[in-house]
Amino acid sequence: MSIMRVIKARVLGFCAGVRRTVDLALDTAHEQTGRKRLFTMGPLIHNGRTLRELADLGFSVLDEEKLPETLVDSATVIRAHGVGPQTRRELLRRGTKIIDATCPKVRKSQLKAQELSKKGFAVFIAGEKNHGEVRGIRMFAPNSLVVENGEAAFEMAKTLFSINKTAKTAMIGQTTISTTEYKTICAAVRQFFPDLAVYDTICGATLARQEALAGLCTEVDALVIAGDPTSSNTRRLFAVAVERGKPAWIVSDASALPPELASFGIVGISAGTSTPDALIGEIELAISLLQC
Ligand code: SF4
Repeated sequence: MSIMRVIKARVLGFCAGVRRTVDLALDTAHEQTGRKRLFTMGPLIHNGRTLRELADLGFSVLDEEKLPETLVDSATVIRAHGVGPQTRRELLRRGTKIIDATCPKVRKSQLKAQELSKKGFAVFIAGEKNHGEVRGIRMFAPNSLVVENGEAAFEMAKTLFSINKTAKTAMIGQTTISTTEYKTICAAVRQFFPDLAVYDTICGATLARQEALAGLCTEVDALVIAGDPTSSNTRRLFAVAVERGKPAWIVSDASALPPELASFGIVGISAGTSTPDALIGEIELAISLLQC
């Protein structure tokens, strides 16, 4: 019987935008802001543990589609994904104090979409149409077209071309879209609009975690991805490990380590951008206590 070795990925866990969001929410709770009720606009991050901690601190989650009639005497944290201008106006109209934790990178995309729309561009947004960030950016460019993949981009560009062959077009990407997917989508639109103006709005945070994990795969026998299975970038990290032929598990709690882990000599740890430091530390400790 020997002690298992644990190696952490060079880059893992909270990105700058998520860390800022969580810190602002915690500050809001601790300062109390003089308000009786605390809200987050949608679930703050994709991590069940953090959401439970926020609920314990008194936060309730608002649904953009069903805002209460009044939010007087409350404070509302806007998450890193941001919101559109109408939602911001509705929140203020209902009397809440806004704590804006929109990630600065997302804010940049929102303002670019607004500027392009005002200049008369047909704005394409490459990303998931139901994702909070995309829904928010879209509200800054009311006639924008959301394209989820190359085929959809081709069809939408074709339709636009049939209506207006000389349309000025521009492309903005969801901050977490993959570079490959973004290029495919842009290429599809360029078949009709070769002058498409493409903006580099992709955030390096998720890619940096994937690259660090890919490097780690060469040093370890198995991988644990600390985080919540509801987080898409956590699932993407899991896929990176599996693609490299490594046994891997997504683990959301230190008490839920798979028993099979004990059969490996060197185990790597990575974590998505919404996994808190405390959880990564607890999982690291629990693995190091396993004996192989
Ligand atoms: S992934 Fe990038 S854009 Fe998204 S919240 Fe984190 S830092 Fe901001």
